[in-house]
Amino acid sequence: MEKILISACLLGLPVRYDNKIQPVENECVQKWHKEGRLVVVCPEVKGGLSTPRPPAEIMAGSGEDVLTGDACIHNSAGGDVTRAFITGAQEALDLVQQFHIRMAILKEKSPSCGSHFIYDGSFSRRLIPGRGVTAALLIRNGVAVFSEKDVVLACEFLGML
Ligand code: SF4
Repeated sequence: MEKILISACLLGLPVRYDNKIQPVENECVQKWHKEGRLVVVCPEVKGGLSTPRPPAEIMAGSGEDVLTGDACIHNSAGGDVTRAFITGAQEALDLVQQFHIRMAILKEKSPSCGSHFIYDGSFSRRLIPGRGVTAALLIRNGVAVFSEKDVVLACEFLGML
């Protein structure tokens, strides 16, 4: 059975930086969960960060730039957390390879999981087009990444695999 990688916070697990519980309400996701298809990951926790934690943003760049060493990630306290984000992304990729995963549902706007939008590094809630580090690494390795807003598209894609 085709497995699907999913951001842990989308299943309501308490892994978000602010410790809030925000599960995605979606029949497809619930069905996949019941079928045992979902492989759950929080890259930031896998990378060694605690919950709760200060919010973090990519500084002047995208997830791709972080992977090439051309951008870094700071938290709101000014700490450099780039290494934890890269480690977490690698952990997510390890799961993808272990379970031969071809698609992922990742939380939009996150500096790890965002697939269309991320915050701009100013900690002023300003969004820019771009991907988080994990989303960028998975896409680089051939995984189809959908956000929680695109689960319908993900359902259709799964039907074509
Ligand atoms: Fe973890 Fe990704 Fe959810 Fe952030 S968006 S809490 S990194 S699973």
